[in-house]
Amino acid sequence: MYQLIDGKRISQEIKDELKEKVAKQGLKRCLAVIKVGNDPASGVYVNNKKKACEYVGIQSLSYELAEETTEEELLKLIEELNTKEDVNGILVQLPLPSHIDEDKVLLAIDPTKDVDGFHPVSVGNLSIGRPGYVSCTPAGVIQLLKRSGIEIAGKECVVIGRSNIVGKPMSMLLLRENATVTICHSRTRDLKEVTKRADILVVAIGKPRFVDETFVKEGAVVIDVGIHRNENGKLCGDVDFDKVAPHTSAITPVPGGVGPMTIAMLMHNCVEGI
Ligand code: NAP
Repeated sequence: MYQLIDGKRISQEIKDELKEKVAKQGLKRCLAVIKVGNDPASGVYVNNKKKACEYVGIQSLSYELAEETTEEELLKLIEELNTKEDVNGILVQLPLPSHIDEDKVLLAIDPTKDVDGFHPVSVGNLSIGRPGYVSCTPAGVIQLLKRSGIEIAGKECVVIGRSNIVGKPMSMLLLRENATVTICHSRTRDLKEVTKRADILVVAIGKPRFVDETFVKEGAVVIDVGIHRNENGKLCGDVDFDKVAPHTSAITPVPGGVGPMTIAMLMHNCVEGI
């Protein structure tokens, strides 16, 4: 029987620990959240972030800018927030409208306030083992493994996906935890041959139910980062859960696995700083 890794419970546990710390130590934290345009999914994410801040005891400042906002106006706002001493975290909700250069915007955020961990300085610090903010979703995966009693050191870990926000930082974090790490991508030859070596397989490929039991070694741990809505409006991941779960020793469900961890780790970054 496999272990179901419960991201809902673990994310709640993390938020409760942070809430207690903020209250006990009287910490003053403030997160500025910037949203540009009317993307409905972004609206939901931003609201969830505001709610989580309220729960933990972090002040949140909300900047909901019109679709027509220029790149220059957005950069000016970030510059102002960079210099505001009482703001310790700045988050720009992605995606941005197409007339704004995302890279330029992420680069404008002061790395000491980069709670999303997307700034090249944060990424560089992660790669060379210096303190810095770590991207929330991969940081959440590490917490899921640790808090479920799954040893990482010495394990063969395979990550499918090399995106800047999930695959690459995920691999660096597993390496930091002393795993042996292989990264796969769309040009990987014989993907299954590689994934079947994994003691821990992290899937961030962005394709609904792509991974079935033929990709997985018997008894492996499988972490599914993917989120999709299927034809019936139900959420599913990059892994075909029903086919894969019986062959694993532990697996994350979708929903209720990696998903809730992202906001919990954002709250962690806001409270703990670098
Ligand atoms: P992405 O930027 O689209 O990256 C997908 C990666 O998968 C790429 O590196 C791509 O390779 C690789 N890939 C695509 N097809 C492949 C194939 N046939 N074989 C091997 N590799 C293949 O996606 P992402 O932003 O990393 O997100 C991945 C998934 O996680 C999505 O479902 C997303 O919705 C989800 N997600 C969830 C959370 C959360 O839970 N909070 C956060 C972020 C993302 P190339 O580089 O060669 O193109």
